[in-house]
Amino acid sequence: MTEGTKSHYEVIVIGAGVAGIYQIKRLVDLGVDAVVLDAAADLGGTWYWNRYPGARFDSESYTYGYSFSKELLDEWHWKEKFSGQPENLRYLNYVAEKFDLRRHMRFNCKVEAARFDEAQDLWRLKLDDGRDLSCRFVIMAVGLLSTPTLPRFSGMDSFKGRSFHTYYWPHEPVDMVGKKVAVIGTGATGIQVIGEIADKVGELTVFQRRPNWSAPLNNSPISEKQMAEIRSRYDEIFATCARTPGGFEHEPDRRGFHEVTRQERLALWDRLYDEPGFGIWLGNFREIFMDEAANAEFSAYIADRIRRRVKNPAVAEKLIPRDHGFGVQRVPLETDYFEAYNRDNVHLVDISATPIERITETGLRTTARDYDFDIIVYATGFDAITGAFDQIDISGLGGEKLFEKWKDGPSTLLGMLVHGFPNLLMPTGPQSGSASTNFPRGIETGVNWCTALMEHMWDRGYTRADATRAAEARWTAHVTKMYEIMLLRKAKSWFTGYNSNVAGHEEGKVRYFVYNGGAPKYVTTINEVAATGYEGIVLSSTERSSARPLAARV
Ligand SMILES: Cc1cc2nc3c(=O)[nH]c(=O)nc-3n(C[C@H](O)[C@H](O)[C@H](O)COP(=O)(O)OP(=O)(O)OC[C@H]3O[C@@H](n4cnc5c(N)ncnc54)[C@H](O)[C@@H]3O)c2cc1C
Repeated sequence: MTEGTKSHYEVIVIGAGVAGIYQIKRLVDLGVDAVVLDAAADLGGTWYWNRYPGARFDSESYTYGYSFSKELLDEWHWKEKFSGQPENLRYLNYVAEKFDLRRHMRFNCKVEAARFDEAQDLWRLKLDDGRDLSCRFVIMAVGLLSTPTLPRFSGMDSFKGRSFHTYYWPHEPVDMVGKKVAVIGTGATGIQVIGEIADKVGELTVFQRRPNWSAPLNNSPISEKQMAEIRSRYDEIFATCARTPGGFEHEPDRRGFHEVTRQERLALWDRLYDEPGFGIWLGNFREIFMDEAANAEFSAYIADRIRRRVKNPAVAEKLIPRDHGFGVQRVPLETDYFEAYNRDNVHLVDISATPIERITETGLRTTARDYDFDIIVYATGFDAITGAFDQIDISGLGGEKLFEKWKDGPSTLLGMLVHGFPNLLMPTGPQSGSASTNFPRGIETGVNWCTALMEHMWDRGYTRADATRAAEARWTAHVTKMYEIMLLRKAKSWFTGYNSNVAGHEEGKVRYFVYNGGAPKYVTTINEVAATGYEGIVLSSTERSSARPLAARV
């Protein structure tokens, strides 16, 4: 059978991003018959799609890269502390070429439906090109920030200029010199774009509904010499990432917020503000995340920093969030963002005061006035965490639909399995340890765990793994309970499932999307489950055999 007509695999991985690439590497090494499918025209996931100016890591590059190959770590030179999208995509291509993984990947393949065949313990997949494929295991490496959402304005198709969501930024350079540009949205993406293009466009008008807290990225180049030093410390770097709650190099300050003087607090904050990366968020006092008073004092400190950077006091006040405290959602890191508003060609429009009424042929209309633009950029984010799952019509045992089951929020076992949907494995699923951390560290953990589960089953001839209802309920209750102590439960953010552009995700109903217990606790828990022979997961077989099924081997 040729590759083109092949219709059955032991494992099908959906998604060729950081997770899918590592998953296929593990499977190829084990000699398993597996393939990766991606709707995109090439590999890279997040770093294939998001090509907008300013798209870059907020993880230190060398903590983001894969840790599984010493050779790879020795070969790759990260050129910047927080590397940009083009370089990140080059890196993922380098990994795929180095380990000859591309031949196991198929592109322009969107999975539209997946149905569990109970009689044979197989998943039956339908692709958008009409093809049908089957497999024992489906690995959902579909991404947690991979379903972009557009606002629901009328007239969006009528605009005669160019407009795009940042996720679909064109592959060819977009000429913005001298152009009138609108950016709608001031979340993590908007903050990156605005800082990058402010001095390159004719006029930039930013439409902001709610400001976000943000702090300096403090990026810098990495010289050959510095990279050599980083390479010599890789073991230590990854050990630190494994020990910290967020999977980063940044460790929380162990002193109690209330045990030190205000002067000592200010000294820490002054230092962290000038340091690179998430230190200002994750190297801070732990009380910032749980204690209203501590959070309010720190938020006031950051507000003053904004006032010092933005010359026009009225604009500065508009850029300071009032509805949530610093750090209760993932903090966007910025480069020259606040200084952009000191430029004569940059204007801030508060659309909570004067909402956008519609998009017009020449621009847009707010309740206050009409604006003309050449380009409209929708920096309006994602249907986060469950969006890519909801896009696939997934039916499990008895025809139950995953979309229906998760209508009011996901429920999972360890963020990796769902009761009633056997053999559907999610290395970085909702409620797993990935979303609130440095993703690749969580991805490697999740992929390794899912791979070990499959190996366990192959070795014993099992063909079905299904989480029990009780175990799933316990995990979901645990994830839910952990929100109670965190201020993040109050934020309108993707950590709580808020997205006014997605029906059912409007304000007022928290979705328990992320595990907040920190990476070390998560790893301990999932390892314990594996060590007990997968307690909480029923393993069974339709065609019990004692050896790894031949079908698993290439
Ligand atoms: C702009 C941006 C910057 C980020 N920066 C950081 C950072 O600095 N640090 C960090 O830790 N995280 C960051 N993230 C999060 C980032 O998503 C993860 O770091 C990581 O790239 C996720 O990898 P993944 O493989 O899980 O998913 P993705 O990279 O999202 O890949 C998922 C793939 O699945 C494909 N897919 C989805 N559904 C289907 C389907 N039905 N059929 C076929 N294919 C499908 C998609 O096309 C996509 O290619 C960032 C995210 C964004 C958007």
